[in-house]
Order: sequence, then structure tokens, then C-alpha cells
Amino acid sequence: MKGVIMHWTGGTHNVSRLDKKHYHSIFAGDGTRVPGNRTREDNENTSDGVYAAHTYRMNTNYVGVSIACMGGKKGTVKWAAKLKDVVFGRYPPTPEQVTAMCKWVANLCFIYDIPVSGVTVLTHGEVEKNLKVKQKGKWDINFLPWLNRGGNTYVGDYLRKRIRGYLYDLENPASEVVKPFAPPIPDLPLPPTPILQPPSVVEKALRANGSRTINAADVQTKVTVWGGVTATVLGVVSEVSDALSGVPPYVWAALAVVACVGLFLYAREIKAARVNDAMTGKNTARLE
Ligand SMILES: [Zn+2]
Repeated sequence: MKGVIMHWTGGTHNVSRLDKKHYHSIFAGDGTRVPGNRTREDNENTSDGVYAAHTYRMNTNYVGVSIACMGGKKGTVKWAAKLKDVVFGRYPPTPEQVTAMCKWVANLCFIYDIPVSGVTVLTHGEVEKNLKVKQKGKWDINFLPWLNRGGNTYVGDYLRKRIRGYLYDLENPASEVVKPFAPPIPDLPLPPTPILQPPSVVEKALRANGSRTINAADVQTKVTVWGGVTATVLGVVSEVSDALSGVPPYVWAALAVVACVGLFLYAREIKAARVNDAMTGKNTARLE
């Protein structure tokens, strides 16, 4: 099947025997679909005379669908320039049957891979203009009661828009789930993995790895501790022997002790900083 042509029957809201002869599917006023007498496959070849004759010279490989409505008011609809001048009569097109027809046409487009264009999915009234095949005064479907405009192209576009919507739902079964339009936020880069070990263990490992800063700090600690002890002893000794003149010896001793305590604290800070570096992955050995 190459396309679908949409009609109205020009009858009541019920499907007649004549309707079933001419269309593959007819939609009653309440939206019920009634199958016609001919199958779609009957219209693959029309030379045998066995097919649904819905559109003059456009029956081969075209499906004919129709809404059962508009009995007795064709002339009024044809010549009405505006919707307010249209008299739909006792059997106007109903929303139920138009919706049912659009859904059914979307099914046909899905099954036969028919694109929803003005030459493949169209109303009978668009055939002359879009397919350049002369028709004998056919204008269905050119007005719908709930549209504020009429005309074959306008109504044809409206129907195609609805059919595209139903076709989209068929092609995207999860489309009823509303998806966010914003792109996902990318993951932030992770901070360096911390080394989950106590500082004393890290300090020990650095020392075993031959870290020069750790070793230097160790030496400095030893020097300051023993230097402090030595200075204190010397200070005490010098005070006792009264060897230095001028500056009182206890001042020298006090200065030496303060200097040693300062160097000791400095060395401790170097080690702590070094251990912290290693734990946060900044540098694991600092051998150079
Ligand atoms: Zn028609």
C-alpha cells in the first residue's frame, strides 16, 4: 500500500451497505470501526474489477477510509466560505469518529511504512490539487465543526498532524513517559584517593622508602635534642666554673635551650607536612 485517502460518506452516523462496498474501513458516529467488503490487498490490483472503489483513478495501492457523516448537506459545505456559514445538518463529523480514523490511518502508515505527506495521506478533496488527478466535484473532508477554519488543505494538514502524533506513539512505545530535556550533569572529577593509614604508619613507610626529608628531619631532631642537652650541661658547667666574663652564663644557657626547642618543633612540623603530602597523594617519596 502506497497511501491512504480519507473521506466522509455523505450519509448518517451509521455505516450502510453501500459504504462497505466503497471503503476499506468506515467509522460510525461513535467511533466504531466497521470493515468494508474488500480487503486492502484487493486494491493492489484493480484491473480485475474486484476492489474498493473510493477515489476516481486513485484506487490502486491506496486505502480508502471514511467517516460516516454529512448526510444531505454537501452543497452547503462546499460553497460555505467561512465555518459560521456551514450547515452541518443532522449528521456532522464527530470527534470520536475523526479520532478513531486518525488512529487507524496511523496504524496503516506504521504497517506499510507510508510517510505522512500530502501525496500519501490525504483527503479526497485534496486529490486534484496534490495528486493532479481530476475528480468529479469531491471536497470531503473540508470542514470539521470544532475547527475555526475550513478548506481542504487546512483540514488535511490538521488530520496529518494528528496522524503523525499517533504514529509517533506507535514508533516510540515509551513516548508517554516524559523525558527531561536538559543534558545529564557530568560527574565531577574525584579527589585523590586518601591513603587510609595512620600517620605513624605512613611516616614509617616513608622512612623505609628512603625519604630524604624524613631522614633529614630525624637527624635534625636528634641534633637539637642532644644539642639542647649538651648546651644545658655546658651552661651549668660554665656557671659553676665562672669561666665566662661579661654576659651572665645562665643567659647563654637559656638562649641555647630556646633555640633547641625551636629547631625541634620545626623538624616536627616538616615531618608532619611530609606525611600529610603522602596521605593526600601529592607525592609519595620526595626522593629528590
Ligand atoms: Zn470521497
